[in-house]
Amino acid sequence: MTTETTNPLLDFSGLPRFDLIRPEHVTPAIEQLILDARAAVRQAEAPAQGSVTWDNFVVPLEEATERLGRAWGVVNHLNHVMDTPELRATYNENQPKITEFWTELGQNEALFDKYKQLRASADFANLSPARKRIVENALRDFRLGGAELPEKQKERFAEIQEEQAKLSTRFSENVLDATNDYKLLVTDEADLSGLPDDVKAAARAAAERDGKTGWQFSLHFPSYFPILQFADKRELREQIYRANATKASEMGAVFSELEKWDNTGNIAQLLKLRDEEAKLLDFRSFAHVSLEPKMAETPEHVIEFLEDLARRARPYAEKDLAELRAFAKDELGIADMQAWDVAYASEKLREKRYAFSAQEVKEYFPEPKVVAGLFGLISKLFDVTIAPDDAPVWHPDVRFFRIEKSGHSGTQLVGQFYLDLYARPGKGQGAWMDDARGRRLTTGGIVQTPIAYLTCNFTPPVADMNGKLQPSLFTHDEVTTLFHEFGHGLHHMLTEVDELSVSGISGVEWDAVELPSQFMENFCWEWDVLQGMTAHVKTGEPLPRALYDKMLAAKNFQSGMQTLRQVEFSLIDMHLHYDFDPNSQQTVQNLVDEVRNKFSVLIPPSFNRFQHSFGHIFAGGYAAGYYSYKWAEVLSADAYAAFEEAVEAGGGQLLDETGKRFHREILAVGGSRPALESFKAFRGREPTIDALLRHNGMQS
Ligand SMILES: [Zn+2]
Repeated sequence: MTTETTNPLLDFSGLPRFDLIRPEHVTPAIEQLILDARAAVRQAEAPAQGSVTWDNFVVPLEEATERLGRAWGVVNHLNHVMDTPELRATYNENQPKITEFWTELGQNEALFDKYKQLRASADFANLSPARKRIVENALRDFRLGGAELPEKQKERFAEIQEEQAKLSTRFSENVLDATNDYKLLVTDEADLSGLPDDVKAAARAAAERDGKTGWQFSLHFPSYFPILQFADKRELREQIYRANATKASEMGAVFSELEKWDNTGNIAQLLKLRDEEAKLLDFRSFAHVSLEPKMAETPEHVIEFLEDLARRARPYAEKDLAELRAFAKDELGIADMQAWDVAYASEKLREKRYAFSAQEVKEYFPEPKVVAGLFGLISKLFDVTIAPDDAPVWHPDVRFFRIEKSGHSGTQLVGQFYLDLYARPGKGQGAWMDDARGRRLTTGGIVQTPIAYLTCNFTPPVADMNGKLQPSLFTHDEVTTLFHEFGHGLHHMLTEVDELSVSGISGVEWDAVELPSQFMENFCWEWDVLQGMTAHVKTGEPLPRALYDKMLAAKNFQSGMQTLRQVEFSLIDMHLHYDFDPNSQQTVQNLVDEVRNKFSVLIPPSFNRFQHSFGHIFAGGYAAGYYSYKWAEVLSADAYAAFEEAVEAGGGQLLDETGKRFHREILAVGGSRPALESFKAFRGREPTIDALLRHNGMQS
């Protein structure tokens, strides 16, 4: 037998063979696929017989690179959700080869030239808008990939890319290692006063897994955050706050052994390389490079947008903070409120003011009910059905589903997705959607349906006193996160575009990509939707009206402070890549402090090194792009307002039509046209900031 049939990573006949794939398969598969892709590139480079056409040039090139992209996607995914030393080693060994291949492809002058010929050909006018956009995007990406550089600079450009990829990987490894390494063992239950039972049960189980007696906490969010939020013992809050805030930094050494994972050097080096890349490409800054394919036009425009938002939010943030300080002093006896008191005091103030706790709410959101409610909503809004499906998975907790649509010709498969909900050791933090396969019409005339990975880090089910596994209870924030990721998933899976490069989320401007995800979050606040997805863990009762009203009243609790915090992160990111000089004496910390002094109402302690685990911009592709969340929120809030208007006007038919129009103009078209055009087609006008401010309880 050939490797083609024995290596499961080379099996593209169906779903990824997660049951068979082992670390030792990675190197041979990736090497084989790179060889195949290079051969296809060589063919595509050869002078065309006659004129360059879509079919004789773009199609074969896409075919060859798609397999490599898919196989590496599987490896990359496993590395993020099932980190083991063996997998990490082979990932790191192969990643430079992948980067090298894509960088070479991005700089290939012969291909660049052929795209230019295709653009100039008489045929171009006859291409579909989606195909035209792919050609235009390709030309832009070639320029940004250094294809126009002289030979020597091209080599340097490639080195820079490879080095950046390595640094990003090291950055996230440091964060993950520092997170996994930290263990706080509490042996006296009295020290855990204030903590909810399920949090204590999870901590007890964690200690048992390590053969210890007591309660063990880590720096994984579901473990450390409840301490900040609920632990009455101030020293305990301070201890875990410090450990988390100094994670993967030079300050980590003061509190533990974490200094070996210090990201200081990685950050400095990344910023230097990005600056050098921008200069090579003849851009003023890396922020300019980053914005080139985005919806926002210039860094100045983005900074202006953020500063405007900061100005509008500031009075609300100041009021939030003054109230919190007064409450901490008067009611909790905390006269000198510190960073590690903020979540705790906020939770107590919220409980007092709105007379409910996050814990109380959580009891209405058992996982099976929430997931069923979400699926029901999607089915209703977009006229599809979601059903369990079979697939090999990487962990027993992972589930697999199919989305179908019924039409004139019977039931039709639209897309499929993996759902991996729980936090576990070796799984990267946060929640995300990734594509396992994109939609396209193959040369054989068959539609390849899209597949998505939906990954979260929620609390896993824990056993009760009798050893019976209880369903996870989601916080309302976790429910919102789940809806958010599903928004991305729907964008990817409900696409109707036949061209891989612009189907689903592919080719969507980065700063517009959060539109469907943030849009979906809004439903977590709708009474009708909540009725369908809540059932009290003991009584089975849906969320009562009184509690809902309190939640709604509390919805914009501290929204001023939260908005400012997001603006602060966005401005730090923007300035680091716009007017920060990585080769000067100024340090990243100086810049962070400067932005905070200017915009924050609550300045974190001087040891806070949040940027050392700011994976979005140092390991996740959000460099000079973190503003995208707020930018897209303008779009998502304004889009959701169309649904609110439909409800106000009587709902029914109008609401159905709005759902259909959202599907047709936003989800279905994916990246096949500019996001602004899609927005205008849906809304009938340009976006405005009013709905965003209103949703956050601020005046426009
Ligand atoms: Zn998102």
